[in-house]
This record gives sequence, structure tokens and C-alpha cells, in this order.
Amino acid sequence: MIPSAEHRRFLQEMKAHTGQDPARCYQCAKCSASCPVTEAMDLLPHQVIRLLQLGFNEKVQASSTPWICATCFTCAARCPRDLDLARIMEGVRLSFLRRRGATRLDPGDIAPELLQKLPQQALVSAFRKHSR
Ligand code: SF4
Ligand code: SF4
Repeated sequence: MIPSAEHRRFLQEMKAHTGQDPARCYQCAKCSASCPVTEAMDLLPHQVIRLLQLGFNEKVQASSTPWICATCFTCAARCPRDLDLARIMEGVRLSFLRRRGATRLDPGDIAPELLQKLPQQALVSAFRKHSR
């Protein structure tokens, strides 16, 4: 299958942002077998990589999986191809946020009483993950 210009551009952007090349994945699914949060995902991690390989970027960007990924690096530690899926998930989120031209989380979305109760680390992590 010959990749479209848009797909090639997306993969180049992904490599530049994350240093990762989804084409290296050979679909062994060890990442999905070891991921602790697959129950909350609508696509398994190895399925995300496959869709990226095939150029179905919109399906990946519409999926909950990149947003659910907890960046625990378990998959990266187990991948026989040395792929860092947490970085790839971050690359997908970044690409989505840049194309959309907006953040997914605005400080005004969080109730003031929650802002006082939530650990600062959780807030910083949430804004890092959901903002440009
Ligand atoms: S563990 Fe690595 S090679 Fe195997 S499916 Fe996941 S990303 Fe691909
Ligand atoms: S880094 Fe993300 S995809 Fe990988 S095992 Fe952890 S939660 Fe799952």
C-alpha cells in the first residue's frame, strides 16, 4: 500500500516529535497484553500502532486510547522492537491538539473546590496531557 502524502507527513511529524517509527512494529501485541488500562480503552495499544501504519490517523485521533494511556512505560519496557508507545500516544495527542488549534482542558472547566483539593502533580500532568 502506497502511503498518501498526508500519511507520510503525519509519520514524519510523529518521528520528529517522538523519535518513534510505528513502521518498526511487527504486531506481536505484547504491549496490549501488558498494558494495565486496556479495559478503559476503545482500541488496544497494538491496534493503535497498526492503524497508524495503515494511515488511519483520524480513527486513532478519534479514539479514547491515546487519552487514557497513563504513560506508565510498561509497554515500552516489554516491546521487542524497542518502540516507546507512551511517546507515540503523546505524539498522537499533540498532533490532535495542534490540528484542533485548542486545548482539551481549560482551567475554567475545573470546579474551584476541586482545584483546591486535587494534588498539584495531578493538575500539572492533566494540563501537560490535554493542552497545547
Ligand atoms: S510490543 Fe512493540 S512490536 Fe509488539 S505490537 Fe506492541 S509496539 Fe508492536
Ligand atoms: S504507556 Fe500507555 S499504552 Fe503503554 S502500557 Fe502504559 S498505559 Fe498502556
